[in-house]
Amino acid sequence: MELRVLGCSGGEAEGHRLTGLLVDGVVAIDAGSLTQALTLEEQVGIRQIFITHSHLDHICTLPFYTKNIFGHTDVPVEIHALPETLDALRRHLFNDEIWPDFSVIPSPDNPIIRFSEIEPGRVYEVEGLRVTPVPVNHLVPTVGYLVEDGRSAFAFTSDTAETDRIYAAANAAPDLRLFITECSFPNAQDWLADASKHLTPRKLARELAKLRRDVPVGIYHLTPGDRAVMLPELEALGDPRVRLLEQDARFTW
Ligand SMILES: [Zn+2]
Ligand SMILES: [Zn+2]
Repeated sequence: MELRVLGCSGGEAEGHRLTGLLVDGVVAIDAGSLTQALTLEEQVGIRQIFITHSHLDHICTLPFYTKNIFGHTDVPVEIHALPETLDALRRHLFNDEIWPDFSVIPSPDNPIIRFSEIEPGRVYEVEGLRVTPVPVNHLVPTVGYLVEDGRSAFAFTSDTAETDRIYAAANAAPDLRLFITECSFPNAQDWLADASKHLTPRKLARELAKLRRDVPVGIYHLTPGDRAVMLPELEALGDPRVRLLEQDARFTW
């Protein structure tokens, strides 16, 4: 499996792209940076997109992406997400006001993108991968994903406050190579993490006690302006598994 980190920042600025992962060049997870990180050719190569939740930093490049691939692919790209997330995409983004509804263009029978509802806990077999959505704990209905190919696996929690099921799924995955989770705010903003259902380094430490695997833990979703404060706080956790997930990193297992 090849995992490419398109973006892993909790805010956008030069050098800090929003959330997106690409697996084997064909399956994307979240769409915060598809159009900034990928060439047009690479964008056309994507066949499936799994969205974790409706927040803007995870979906914002979908409109420009759909326009880019229009006319360059005959098969609709599947957008997999929870029903609540798809509902938000239809009502607030692809609503013909903010952006055309590309799920019925050029025709309802043969659109450029097709929305596909996912059910937490079910396994989706696509492009030689097994993708399992696992509910996490965020402001809106949100899933993380366990992605496996029979030889290697990684888990991605997406945005979440304290949660259990994705740790159980990761602990049970035989070929786990990487666990990606979030840390959004410094310890001093505990209240903000509570209000927005995110983690601080202190909260993260309690979460990581649930991960009974000796694999690298890639931290993502730092707020760019708070990195200088957060890096020493993450260092102080003293957990040798913890490292920052780096934009443009590639993992091959
Ligand atoms: Zn979010
Ligand atoms: Zn986010």
